[in-house]
Amino acid sequence: MKKSILFICISFLMYACTEGNNASDATESPQIQAEKQPFAIAIHGGAGTIYKENISDSMELAYKTVLEQSVRKGYKILEDGGTSLDAVEACIRILEDSPLFNAGKGAVFTSNGTNELDASIMEGKTKNAGGVAGVTTVKNPITLARAVMEQSEHVMLAREGAEDFAKHVGVTLVDPEHFYTESRMKALERAQQRENSLETSFYDPYAKEDKFGTVGCVALDKEGNIAAGTSTGGMNNKRWGRIGDSPIIGAGTYANNNTCAISATGWGEYFIRGVIAYDIAAMMEYSNLSLHSAAQRVIHKKLPEMGGDGGIIGIDQKGNIAMVFNTPGMFRASIDTTGTLSIKLYGEDQ
Ligand code: ASP
Repeated sequence: MKKSILFICISFLMYACTEGNNASDATESPQIQAEKQPFAIAIHGGAGTIYKENISDSMELAYKTVLEQSVRKGYKILEDGGTSLDAVEACIRILEDSPLFNAGKGAVFTSNGTNELDASIMEGKTKNAGGVAGVTTVKNPITLARAVMEQSEHVMLAREGAEDFAKHVGVTLVDPEHFYTESRMKALERAQQRENSLETSFYDPYAKEDKFGTVGCVALDKEGNIAAGTSTGGMNNKRWGRIGDSPIIGAGTYANNNTCAISATGWGEYFIRGVIAYDIAAMMEYSNLSLHSAAQRVIHKKLPEMGGDGGIIGIDQKGNIAMVFNTPGMFRASIDTTGTLSIKLYGEDQ
């Protein structure tokens, strides 16, 4: 009898303690929650000559709507306990499916009037990575990049081989017509007219007004793992199988739990030569710089000194977010560790 009374008392005490904890969880401020298991996400939709006066109110709303839809989707995945890798892929798929961005559906045209897409993804915990370059029939190149990482023993596949692999693993293929958009065709025509009007053979591969739209995402999940991904149609009027930084690990995309996850956008040749995404991580690792200081130094000093321009988004394991660019604007959105949403297009608040 005594034993069962003792058992009931102990059980009651244990129940009371558990309830007490739950109650305090429910009343904790978002800041306290964030300190316990921070998670956060950031996306970009390309950097370039983005000025308010050049974008109509309806276009501004259209960009902001898709950016918000994408970042909220990723945040929900993280909130529900999903991985940063899942969040990165899901956010980028939404941007790839929109005709507004230079990735997937809205990709720019090559000089031959075709679309050749590049993408890469990397996870910070394992430092596994996957990339694809020059694919023409893959609806969501970021998903194929993830398949390369998870279902092949390789890091990077290109062109027909990558498309064969896509068939092999069942990644959705579409007719190349899927990627036709009138606005990108007009941009190609403008670039080719400019090219033809030049007396010399000088070729301006990256004319200012057609210079944005690559997409990317970085995320931190509740397990403390970070990931990054980038997807692009590359440069308008590109030729000869040109491949930029976006599918190249270390240049356009990088992730390492010990430092940061980075997705870049800008003049790809310079991002490759400067190994920009990895350079930011290396500054954090070897010089103990914060994510923000490292990104500032690379984007505002090293990159322009080389002659390059563009920007990055980055996240570290504490959920600090950096969105740094040396162009007039960068389409970007984030939801930070306190759950605060931010969507911006122009040069404010870097
Ligand atoms: N970095 C991309 C490339 O060079 C283009 C961009 O981000 O706008 O292919």
